[in-house]
Amino acid sequence: MSQASDLKKIEQLRATIRRYDELYYRKAEPEISDFEYDALKRELSDLEDANPELPLANSPSQAVGDDRTEGFASYRHLLPMQSLDNTYSKDEFFSFVSRVEKGLESERPAFTVEPKIDGVAVSLTYENGKLARAVTRGNGIEGDDVTANARYIERLPEKLEGENIPEIVEIRGEIFMQVEEFERLNSLRAEVGLEPFKNPRNLAAGTVKLLDRAEVARRKLDIVLYGLGECRPAVVNSQSAYREQLIKWGLPIVDRFWQVEGAESAWAAVEELDEIRLGFDFPTDGAVVKVDSFAEQDRLGATSKAPRWAIAVKFAAEQAETQLERITIQV
Ligand code: NAD
Repeated sequence: MSQASDLKKIEQLRATIRRYDELYYRKAEPEISDFEYDALKRELSDLEDANPELPLANSPSQAVGDDRTEGFASYRHLLPMQSLDNTYSKDEFFSFVSRVEKGLESERPAFTVEPKIDGVAVSLTYENGKLARAVTRGNGIEGDDVTANARYIERLPEKLEGENIPEIVEIRGEIFMQVEEFERLNSLRAEVGLEPFKNPRNLAAGTVKLLDRAEVARRKLDIVLYGLGECRPAVVNSQSAYREQLIKWGLPIVDRFWQVEGAESAWAAVEELDEIRLGFDFPTDGAVVKVDSFAEQDRLGATSKAPRWAIAVKFAAEQAETQLERITIQV
């Protein structure tokens, strides 16, 4: 392809992706599947890689999708919230592990493998153990303050329990809707002849941003925590130890979790997760594989958009709707 036609294609793809980002992150009303979206993103990145002389600034390939909307105060994260690189392929996953091994000069790095919850990323700040605010990822630097809506989540504690309470800690996770609650709300809509909500992810994202508090109270949101932002003073030094700490603080986590070493064991855990995930009561669209040690994470660092020490392995072209159909068939 000539450079002129590449440039034209790049501009088209950037405009198309910006539109889909707006629909997904701000309106929670995507028009295409995640698989189709990821394919467009991949096409754009490949073309940008093939044309390194073209400016990348302002390309949606370089930034996290922005969920900030009107009606919410903005809050600046102490530590930016990033996205994750993702793949649908085993070969690419093994290439990721090779890069990690090279970066760490280690033959069998220790990884954690966790379900990827398909909800809305959120950062909770606890100050001296008390919940100060809940903020969406926003543009990664600053997000929307959704504390008032998050306070309706039953499993979200106002206070951290136990010892080892930092002066300030940003605890990251996902607000989501359980499959059962999603079905309950849709059956209520069917009774009054309303169109059903499309999937739990979009409904959770839309509900987090509702300004009508009474409606938020009627829809039951849920939350799980798995990530760490700023923490003063530091309390743990690995992803697996952090998970234990979250449990001691009385925070909800995802039950399933694997600690593995090396590429083959990590991939076996990803496959096991894929087999059991339809039984989960939360929507999941993949597995997240992370280097366990925080010191090793720091050595690997991050790009402008995502850490180099983690990857999301997405499961085929699965959509939450398909997942729901399969759950219904099994029942
Ligand atoms: P992502 O959803 O692929 O991965 C990053 C996010 O995963 C994190 O921000 C975090 O919120 C979440 N996550 C869930 N479980 C996690 C765990 N255990 N550990 C760490 N993180 C975990 O990235 P994104 O930037 O939030 O969204 C991009 C993706 O959204 C795209 O790849 C696409 O699938 C989807 N999208 C779809 C459309 C569409 O039109 N269909 C548009 C935009 C984005």
